[in-house]
Amino acid sequence: MKIAVLSGKGGTGKTTVSASLAASLDKSQYIDCDVEEPNGALFLNPEITNVTPVNVLVPQVDSDKCDGCGKCGKACQFNAIAVVKNKVLIFPELCHHCGACMIACPQDAITEIERDIGVVESDSEGYFFQGRLNIGEPITIPIISELKKLMRDDIPVILDSPPGASCTVVATIEDCDYCILVTEPTPFGLHDLIIAVQLVRKMGIPFGVVINKAMEEDKSIHQYCEQEKIDVLMEIPFLREIAEGYSKGVLPAQASDEWKNNFKQLYETIKGGAAS
Ligand code: SF4
Ligand code: SF4
Repeated sequence: MKIAVLSGKGGTGKTTVSASLAASLDKSQYIDCDVEEPNGALFLNPEITNVTPVNVLVPQVDSDKCDGCGKCGKACQFNAIAVVKNKVLIFPELCHHCGACMIACPQDAITEIERDIGVVESDSEGYFFQGRLNIGEPITIPIISELKKLMRDDIPVILDSPPGASCTVVATIEDCDYCILVTEPTPFGLHDLIIAVQLVRKMGIPFGVVINKAMEEDKSIHQYCEQEKIDVLMEIPFLREIAEGYSKGVLPAQASDEWKNNFKQLYETIKGGAAS
């Protein structure tokens, strides 16, 4: 079963939930798709033994063949190639590797070269994987795609999604069996949860909600979920000991058997068909 854990915004507790779930199951594969800032390793402490570069193809121009016609620049939807005074300028960071400029060039002056954008790192046993985007690189999806090629079929797969509801989240959660939406009882948390709910409903993926930093006095998330007929799968209370553990790199599921069992039960509930 492939479970993606996402949240409408960063800092909500997405990694707490995804890493706790992975840490609670006897065997699972944890994949950190939050490639701009992967931090599941801080809690799960894997021994990284494999580092594989991720490359994308970007255009290069043979100036001996190029006549400066400008057709490549017109073909590019991403402003990654432009022709100024008969000279072709390439902005590789903006390139989406679609190949349109190569097709458009009447002189066959464009070929492709590899560009290194980051790495995929893993342990030796196939339980922990994370992507890491090079600093300054703007395009994350090729690394997420590489990570998803490594998903196993024999054990539960937990994907820690990037925050938000952008194309990187779509790339992470598509083809997943279930999404856990992590939120917190604040106006921002509710606002971003509503956006995340719209996304997973549009994609037709079953989902439920985990409330992190839950407080008795704030029932706004419960009210929304009740109104929208969404399952609240778990609440993690806003407690000092949980926050202190987190600051030391200790997850609730690592700190107590009770929480470990809670997360095991969360998995069983999802597996048993909890859906909204
Ligand atoms: S490969 Fe596509 S995105 Fe990249 S420069 Fe060419 S047309 Fe633009
Ligand atoms: S389309 Fe080809 S020939 Fe025309 S400017 Fe671009 S690289 Fe040069």
